[in-house]
Amino acid sequence: MDPDFDIHDHRHRMKLLRDTGEMSIYDNMDGVRCPACTEIFERLVLIEGRSTSFPEHAGAPFCLVRRAEDIALFRH
Ligand SMILES: [Zn+2]
Repeated sequence: MDPDFDIHDHRHRMKLLRDTGEMSIYDNMDGVRCPACTEIFERLVLIEGRSTSFPEHAGAPFCLVRRAEDIALFRH
């Protein structure tokens, strides 16, 4: 596990899909690997708000990494 995963190190390999200020969602365009399980993930969600809800969930596995400024959710 790599808790120091830095989005800026991989920014050119990810596409920003949405940024609400509380949450930003990135599409993994180039096989970036999840810092928690080392598998390639599909989407990265950076959660900066104190709480959030995910009304839809397709049942795909995901990993969470707690960071200083946010929580990173890696959806596989
Ligand atoms: Zn993972």
